[in-house]
Amino acid sequence: MNVDDYASDTNSCLVVAPSKVNGLGLFSREEISKGHIVGRCNGLILSTPNKRTIQIERRRHITSHYIDFINHQCRPTTCVRVEGNSIALYAIEYISARNDEITIDYNCSEYSLAESFFCRCCRPQNHICGYSHLIETSQTDYLRRIEQFALPHLLELGINAKGVDRHSADRPY
Ligand SMILES: [Zn+2]
Repeated sequence: MNVDDYASDTNSCLVVAPSKVNGLGLFSREEISKGHIVGRCNGLILSTPNKRTIQIERRRHITSHYIDFINHQCRPTTCVRVEGNSIALYAIEYISARNDEITIDYNCSEYSLAESFFCRCCRPQNHICGYSHLIETSQTDYLRRIEQFALPHLLELGINAKGVDRHSADRPY
């Protein structure tokens, strides 16, 4: 994979800078009002997830230069919407220019994470595994709160997965 693969991922509003969450993160050059679009990301579509992808459909995972820098927060500043072969990020709260990091909740964008991890935003830390693990293990207020932001195909996969053997060879992601 080289830089040319990401040539279509041009977005003058987005900028990569040091993160308070983890390493480098994604920020906006301009302030964004709640509900407004922050930016769109185009990239490569892969059939399997890795730690640098966002799931846009069953067995379709997008990766790009900017997507690589979107950190997880359990109370994120943006949510993801799929638009064809790209994703759009929408502010779910006011985002100040170059200060409020653009974050998403990975449990709303991945059915099952390629690599689970412990969040850096909560005490105690939450184990972030993806949407399927939430519906397996909890029907908590958290799940009810995030379902409004979870990508539609994750909700559909969750419904379809109920009653089937999750450990079969035909895993739904
Ligand atoms: Zn957290």
